[in-house]
Amino acid sequence: MDKDNAKKILDEVYKDILDQLDHNRESISKDLIIDILQQASSHISKLDFDKTDAIDLLHNSLDNHFEKIAEYSLEHYSQTNQTFKDLTQEQGKIIQDTDVGTINTQELMKKFSEIQLYMLNEANKANNTINKLKEQMKILKNNSDIDFLTKTLNRRALSRDLEKICNLKHERSKDTYALMIDIDDFKKLNDTYGHLVGDKVLIFLSGTLKKILRDADKIYRYGGEEFTILLNRTTKSECMHVTNRILTMIQNSKLIYKDLSLSITVSIGVTNLADYDVPETFIDRADTALYKAKTNGKNQIVLEEADER
Ligand code: GH3
Ligand code: MG
Ligand code: MG
Repeated sequence: MDKDNAKKILDEVYKDILDQLDHNRESISKDLIIDILQQASSHISKLDFDKTDAIDLLHNSLDNHFEKIAEYSLEHYSQTNQTFKDLTQEQGKIIQDTDVGTINTQELMKKFSEIQLYMLNEANKANNTINKLKEQMKILKNNSDIDFLTKTLNRRALSRDLEKICNLKHERSKDTYALMIDIDDFKKLNDTYGHLVGDKVLIFLSGTLKKILRDADKIYRYGGEEFTILLNRTTKSECMHVTNRILTMIQNSKLIYKDLSLSITVSIGVTNLADYDVPETFIDRADTALYKAKTNGKNQIVLEEADER
């Protein structure tokens, strides 16, 4: 809820109070005023505010269901929002302090006005907290999509994006390609130089891929030493051009680490997205292409095009 919305609701509540007071001018009583104010207060307390420590809760409980946790936290806060409960009591107290016999409507209106300002202030504070929480959620959401070692997107993000792409019904087959990239003989590299060096190679490879690709292209760590790339809005020839660049750039690059100068090669399987594909068939075809690249002798690209149906 933004500030303008909060103000609008509060204005409506205030107007409602004034209307009710006008309407009941003859029979005005302390109980009636308390009742009206409490109604107004309950109206306000139904607004959706968040919970300050929801952020900590989110931090501690981050997993694939963090959005549900955030939803829960917001709901929880709106139920337990102490500020507005206190406000109800404060309103009651103001009325108790007012002498029934000598109710001064102007004085009362001034107090209502003060309460309205106070409510607006509280609503603004809550609004700020909501915005902070939203920011935190965005960061957490992004982090949970990112592979810790290589800072590429992870398998979870790939599954989600593939679902999304495959659910697009229109004209999808012509412009999306998947690349499955696997480092050649990585086990040997690990065995020779150790896992730490292996990790450096994975970071080096993902860095090289990021440099070659456009911002709109997405790189995912599929697992181990395998990466998936989704190229959107591309043609077969553009896709093969980029794939060739990846292959040659990697085989020509050297990773200097301590006194080591390392070079690696990769094998790449490529396929295009067909109308009939679901995520599994799309990825399986890229995998088949990769397998062929490996069995043909590695350090090469195999394109496995989807059947025309
Ligand atoms: P191929 O050319 O057929 O792909 O052979 P390969 O040795 O690259 O493939 P293989 O599947 O036999 O070995 C993959 C290795 O990747 C084994 C595993 O220890 C290593 N690996 C997986 N994840 C990581 C990681 O995060 N860090 C390091 N350093 N190694 C990893
Ligand atoms: Mg592998
Ligand atoms: Mg490998």
